[in-house]
This record gives sequence, C-alpha cells and structure tokens, in this order.
Amino acid sequence: MSMHTTKFLSVKDARELIRKVGLYSFTEKVVDRLESNFSNWQDFDKSPRTANHSEVGVIELMPVSNDHQFSFKYVNGHPQNPSFGLSTVMAFGCLSEVQTGWPLLLSEMTILTGIRTAATSVMVAKKLARKNSKTMAMIGNGAQSEFQILAFHSILGINRVHLFDTDPEATKKLVRNLAHVDGLELVTFESTRDAVKGCDIVTTCTADKALATILTADMVEEGMHINGIGGDCPGKTELDKDILSKSSVFVEYAPQSRIEGDIQQMPADFPVTEFWEVLTGVKAGRTSDSQVTVFDSVGFSLEDFSVLQVAYQLMEEHNMDTSIEIVPIMEDSKDLFGLLNLVPSIAR
Ligand code: NAD
Repeated sequence: MSMHTTKFLSVKDARELIRKVGLYSFTEKVVDRLESNFSNWQDFDKSPRTANHSEVGVIELMPVSNDHQFSFKYVNGHPQNPSFGLSTVMAFGCLSEVQTGWPLLLSEMTILTGIRTAATSVMVAKKLARKNSKTMAMIGNGAQSEFQILAFHSILGINRVHLFDTDPEATKKLVRNLAHVDGLELVTFESTRDAVKGCDIVTTCTADKALATILTADMVEEGMHINGIGGDCPGKTELDKDILSKSSVFVEYAPQSRIEGDIQQMPADFPVTEFWEVLTGVKAGRTSDSQVTVFDSVGFSLEDFSVLQVAYQLMEEHNMDTSIEIVPIMEDSKDLFGLLNLVPSIAR
C-alpha cells in the first residue's frame, strides 16, 4: 500500500477486524498501548477537549499528538438518544502523521470507544484494585457494559458480576449477550445498594444529564475500587461528594477532569493523582487493603490515540486494505483547480 493512502475502518470493517483478532486479544493490545503511551505522558501535546453543550447533550472534539502522530475523535453524549433509536455515545475519528498532516486512518469510533474505555478501566484497576479482586458490580448495563465486563473478566480475572440498571431490558440484553462466557457468573439485583454489597470493584456506567448520586457514601465498603465512567460532563455526575472526600481519587488528565469528572463537585485544589504518575512510579497508587480508590474517568484523547494506533497496526497485519479518498493526490500538488477538470466556460 502506498504511503499516501488513508485507511478506512467502517463499522462493518471494525466488526470484521474484531472477529479476526478476537475481542480479548484486541482489548489486551489496547491495554499494552495505553500503558506505553501513558508512560510517555510528557511526550504528548495535551489539552482538555472542546465541548459544545446543549440542553440534551454534548458534542466534543478530542485532539492529541506526539512528535510523530496526531489524532482526534468526534464524540457526542446524548442520554435520551436511545428513545430515538440512537446510541447515547456515537463517534468517529482520525489518526494522522505529524510530519505532513496526512490522514493515515479514518475510523468509526463508537465500537473503538467501547474497547478503549474498557481497556483504560482495566489498565487503572490493574494498579488500584485490591489484588485477587473477584467480584464487580456493574451499575448501568447499556452500550459500554459488556466491553467493561469482558475486559475485567479476561484480564483481571473478575468472575462474578452483580448487575443493576433502572431499565430491566438493558440488564436482560447484557445477560443474553454474555450468558455463554466461560467462568463468568452474572447475578441481577433490584437496586444499586444490593448490587454493590460485598463487591471488590464497583463500575458505574450510567447516562443521565444530571447531578446524580448513583453511589452514596454508605454503600461504599473498605477496600473497594470504584471505576466511575458515567460522570463525564459538567452537570453530569454519579458519585456522592462524601465518597470523593473519603477516598484516594485518580484521574486521567486533571485540567479536563476538574471540569468534567465527578470531582467537578469538589474545590479546585482538591487533591487528585493523575494515573500516569502511578504507572511511572512518581506517586503511590493503592497503599493498603482498606483504602477506597476511585478512578474518576471522563475519557481522554490519549485513549483514542492509542486505540487508533492499534486498529491501524491490526489492519496492516490482517491485510485489510480498505481505503478512502478523503484528501486529493494530484500530479501537480499546486493544481487543485485542475483536479476538478472543468472547462473554463463552466467555471463560473
Ligand atoms: P447507554 O445509554 O447505552 O447506557 C447507560 C445505561 O444507564 C442505560 O441502560 C440506563 O438505563 C442506565 N441508567 C441511567 N440512570 C441509571 C441509574 N440511576 N441507575 C442505574 N442505571 C441507570 O450509555 P453508554 O454508552 O453505556 O455510556 C454510559 C455512560 O458512560 C454515559 O454517561 C457516557 O457518557 C459515559 N462514557 C464515558 C466514557 C469514559 O471514557 N469515561 C466513555 C464512554 C461513555
């Protein structure tokens, strides 16, 4: 394939690639790439994402680059979308080379977001959850939930998952999808309070454009790791303030998380640790079995960069040469007009 080709990963191609590679293997590769990129944190040109808010949702652009590559993701968050037959989160994005700006890959990213969010949760839980954690509560059983559960099952050995969603149909869908996964026990509960009881890890992954308190301080037990996914926008939270004030809180990129994460409820100087600091040994992660750790996840551009890099490499390895002419290549690179091939009389 020539260097000046833009690979194209459509939804159909992404499904095919994931089937070829296997979801477990794909997710593991993303975890590896995340660990490598987060370890090289200082190499990246980072900024909080640009967010355009409306009454019902948000549309965001998420750019990041190092000396070699740049990526961006377009992503929305509209909790009411399922009532229109659309996903809450929909995304696409691009990986480019920095030297020329050439787009290397244009990709669907709704599916890739499910994978990268789960891979990020696992990268963090590998360091912060108690060793030998076996049980997880999954609060919110929507689009992200199966990706989360399978990543925790395959990489961290979580074998019992407690489920709760205010929409029983979402839980039924999850159970249907994962009923045949070897060694995974799924148990449905009637409330968040009942579901989280006795769990090593609690993942909150709900969607509501509200200052919600999915989890209150009295539900949190000693030693729990809380993987908070859904509080990711101004005015959209999941965790009671009292949980945050009593826990050790870890974030992706503090300037963005202070605007968007559950910590938006806390003062601007509330102490948090950026996860790269734990990964590189600059700061401590979990220091005792009784400590409560919170990953206040909002989703950061470096996670999208990482999954796009993995998708690009896997497309090469599996000879998937679907491409798209999104930028013109011309014999004379200055002759953009000539590319149109208009006769002068109609060029008005
Ligand atoms: P989704 O709409 O498919 O699923 C959300 C589920 O939460 C729904 O089934 C809904 O019924 C349930 N829910 C709503 N309120 C609840 C409550 N009070 N208790 C229990 N369940 C409740 O959305 P999704 O794609 O699975 O995304 C879930 C959340 O994660 C969204 O808020 C999204 O913005 C966020 N998200 C974060 C990241 C990240 O990187 N941190 C990435 C992707 C999505």
